[in-house]
Amino acid sequence: MFSDLKGKVVIITGAATGIGKAIAKRFAEEQCKVVINYFSEEENPRELLKEIEQGGGTASIIQGDVTKEEDVLAFVKFAQDTYGSLDIYVNNAGIENEVPTERLSLEDWNKVLNTNLTGTFLGCREAAEYMLKNNIKGSIINISSVHEIIPWPHFVHYAASKGGVKLLMESMALEFAPDGIRVNNIAPGAIDTPINAEKFSDPEKKKGVEKLIPLGYIGEPEQIASCAAFLASEQASYVTGTTLIADGGMTKYPGFQAGKG
Ligand code: NAD
Repeated sequence: MFSDLKGKVVIITGAATGIGKAIAKRFAEEQCKVVINYFSEEENPRELLKEIEQGGGTASIIQGDVTKEEDVLAFVKFAQDTYGSLDIYVNNAGIENEVPTERLSLEDWNKVLNTNLTGTFLGCREAAEYMLKNNIKGSIINISSVHEIIPWPHFVHYAASKGGVKLLMESMALEFAPDGIRVNNIAPGAIDTPINAEKFSDPEKKKGVEKLIPLGYIGEPEQIASCAAFLASEQASYVTGTTLIADGGMTKYPGFQAGKG
């Protein structure tokens, strides 16, 4: 636990499910005031809210689409109106779909880029603007992916979006370092969340993914949430412009693990 997080106001996008949900719960445990952005009613964000409140935490929910500028502006206004500040902004919302590149439609390309890259840009911009205006030495965290590093055939739009988030983060970190605003990424490897539900329900595909992970198992959303809590905390006060890779070693060329190659 990171005691300096107590009372901090945090917005997390796409937080009704998966990694975002685990981050929301973790920040609530850290006694932050948590703004949970959810995308669709089917994701039942009220269950999460109830769970946090029953555990003694403080949270609110706001529906919105990170690709819409007015919605992102509304998240920040909501945090200000509800809790009087904004200290931490987590750009977590993201989507992917598998398509051979020669058949990738412009519509799919735009959808993934708009959500993963433009949505992250809007969140970063609005959070930075608020923090600058209010002299808050805040923390902005983007959930990118190991695919900000590893190329991914059939997911070129996803890889392009996450690669874009890497340089967006690094450039913003440089720009806002003089103001004490830290900007970092977390790059998860394979994590057990709804985005992978179909893939991991097939034992063969799951085994194939596990083979790519030196630690030998698929990660849990809580293992990413603890990285977010660390990066937001004072314990990471000298950390900016970096990607914290949480991938069980996936980016370290597992094919060489047995001394081959
Ligand atoms: P998930 O599908 O559970 O979470 C994605 C969330 O984003 C959902 O709640 C969804 O409703 C929300 N979302 C989608 N479009 C949105 C929009 N336009 N506006 C607001 N919210 C929107 O999957 P997850 O694994 O928890 O993914 C969270 C993040 O982690 C994503 O950015 C994903 O790319 C990244 N990631 C996941 C893994 C993994 O293995 N699970 C690995 C690397 C990176």
